[in-house]
Amino acid sequence: MAIITVTPSKSVKNVLVKGMMDNVMEQFNNAADHINLHPNIRKILSITNNEIIVHFPVKMDNGEVEIFTGYRVQHNNALGPYKGGLRYHPTVDIDAARALAMWMTWKTSLAGLPYGGGKGGIQLDPSKYSEGELERITRRFTFALADNIGPEHDIPAPDVNTNSQTMAWIADTYMSTRPPAERTANQHVVTGKPEGSGGLEGRDRATGYGVFLNIKFWIENKNETLQGKKFIVQGFGNVGYWAAHFLEEQGAKLVAVQDAFGSLENQNGIKVEDLFNYSKAKKGSIVDFPEASPLDTESFFTTECDICIPAALGNQITKENASTIKAKLIAEGANGPTNVEGEKILLERGITIIPDILCNSGGVVGSYFEWLQNRNGEMWQLDEVITKLDKKMRESFNKVYEYSETEGIGLRTAAYCIAIKRIEKAYVQRGIFP
Ligand code: GLU
Repeated sequence: MAIITVTPSKSVKNVLVKGMMDNVMEQFNNAADHINLHPNIRKILSITNNEIIVHFPVKMDNGEVEIFTGYRVQHNNALGPYKGGLRYHPTVDIDAARALAMWMTWKTSLAGLPYGGGKGGIQLDPSKYSEGELERITRRFTFALADNIGPEHDIPAPDVNTNSQTMAWIADTYMSTRPPAERTANQHVVTGKPEGSGGLEGRDRATGYGVFLNIKFWIENKNETLQGKKFIVQGFGNVGYWAAHFLEEQGAKLVAVQDAFGSLENQNGIKVEDLFNYSKAKKGSIVDFPEASPLDTESFFTTECDICIPAALGNQITKENASTIKAKLIAEGANGPTNVEGEKILLERGITIIPDILCNSGGVVGSYFEWLQNRNGEMWQLDEVITKLDKKMRESFNKVYEYSETEGIGLRTAAYCIAIKRIEKAYVQRGIFP
């Protein structure tokens, strides 16, 4: 007889994401105060529109059935369909999904996209499951979400521990469960698909490339170059790897890396491709890479460097470590990596933070291009993608930089102000139904 087990245990919950909602709300309220946001719109944006929680059973390889909990939070759709990733991680819960969905609303608005914000995922540790189990979990989750997602309604994408394969399973399941005449027309229900299945050339590197561009723009504004600049990266997944790849190409030097398994340092430089190939062969772990020395977890952020790229999870830079950070620039590849207390310390120390909603927005901009490609039945080429991405990222960076200079506020608050104003305008024009 099948045994039903509930996974995962509450003890692993929220270790890294505690307070994410507090952070996003404080960031939002700071900006709302600055622009004197209308109280009614503040009320609307302070809460999520819809929160979907699904519990669903999946048959494991050993024949047992396990019950999983999946989330999809739809924060706001004033500017267009909900948009945002799905993550597979033990820290996924309703609070994390709410905060991450809100960040997506600001991110898509700031980028000038016709999207709102959503986020979700499943509370699990994917390393504990086989490829076949992950496929069945993903397909059953998609089935459970049913019409709560859709190409003109809510469009998921990859996030922590999900990738183009995950998106291919979602697209296939969603399309397979549509009425026959609608099946192929629904490819853009997700973005970040593999290139052979409607995916966009270059979507894989879009987030990391955008992080790199933001760093480059900031350095150029200071009349400096990336040549010889030292940088550290937390998280060597899709975002961390690609950001490091492009920075190295411009002569910058990767001097420390941290992933979920360990940390490494080499002040003479760690070769990005070598580390990438090594970690690929070691199931995604950087541990014991021969051309660097191991570093203890706590020392990672204190490494001597010019640029620090947190590209893993939320709440990594806090009051515990912000005063020991050596970098002059923090480029947020992850969502919410710096909490409010950590940020206060960094700003007092004169350290610049390129905020997540600007810094990592290349990913969702790439997603928008993929969505357009599918919707219009087109096939975009890589050079076209890169040219368009460059332009979008440049526009966003300049807008935020200039606003922050003229208003005398930090880049994060500036980015929020621009994002919120665009949503406010839509509400003012349309009014509130009924
Ligand atoms: N998960 C990515 C993010 O946090 C991409 C979202 C998307 O492309 O919809 O921005």
